[in-house]
Amino acid sequence: MRSRTDESEAGARAALLRAAQALNALGINQGRSGNVSVRTAQGFLVTPSGVAYEAMTPDMLVPVTLDGGYRGDLRPSSEWRLHRDIYRHRPEAGAVVHVHSTAATALACLRLRIPAFHYMVAMAGGTSIELADYATFGTQELSDAMLAALGPRRACLLANHGQIAYGATLEKALDLAVEVEALARQYWHARSLGEPVILSEAEMAEVTRRFAAYGKPAAERTAADDAVLGFPHRLDG
Ligand code: 13P
Ligand code: ZN
Repeated sequence: MRSRTDESEAGARAALLRAAQALNALGINQGRSGNVSVRTAQGFLVTPSGVAYEAMTPDMLVPVTLDGGYRGDLRPSSEWRLHRDIYRHRPEAGAVVHVHSTAATALACLRLRIPAFHYMVAMAGGTSIELADYATFGTQELSDAMLAALGPRRACLLANHGQIAYGATLEKALDLAVEVEALARQYWHARSLGEPVILSEAEMAEVTRRFAAYGKPAAERTAADDAVLGFPHRLDG
């Protein structure tokens, strides 16, 4: 008989594989680059090292514990430390996405951070998306640099490497990685025509206030949220 733990692990494996394969479909990853994980009761489940996403099956995903042990024949992603350290130090993180998306990587190779050139930068949980110092892939040094660049935010660029994003769920982590790539592309275009105007702390504080009320599921929406966002009044009930 399958236990509840087996069933929840099977569910997590299916969801993680869907998310990993979505990265290629969304155009934010290619080949063997990048890795994705989801938190589990025992630690986290992560994509295996050096396997192309199209060739991946649910049984190939690797369970890793927060103290750094893994189960199975396949090795966990060489970046397991990035994932482990986010789960260890950011209790709100439920999923992590690391990709070498083109525009984010291009900025990271120029050693550029993304300032508040557009209000959507707030989606990462702050007023900028910072750049982690360069360190070799797969090292603790890279993970330490990542945690420093993340600070209280949910995404950062990794110098000469790519980007990393996390969220409460796989969907949120994926959405944020896609948004970071879009922002990187927009910043790159804006900078290629001139020097973008950077929003002030006060302008970004107002965005953050609105973001707290924005995009909630219908069941969670309150009258106070509607007041913050200034929607028109409802006519049918
Ligand atoms: P893995 O295949 O080991 O996950 O490595 C890919 C990567 O992006 C390394 O930074
Ligand atoms: Zn990488």
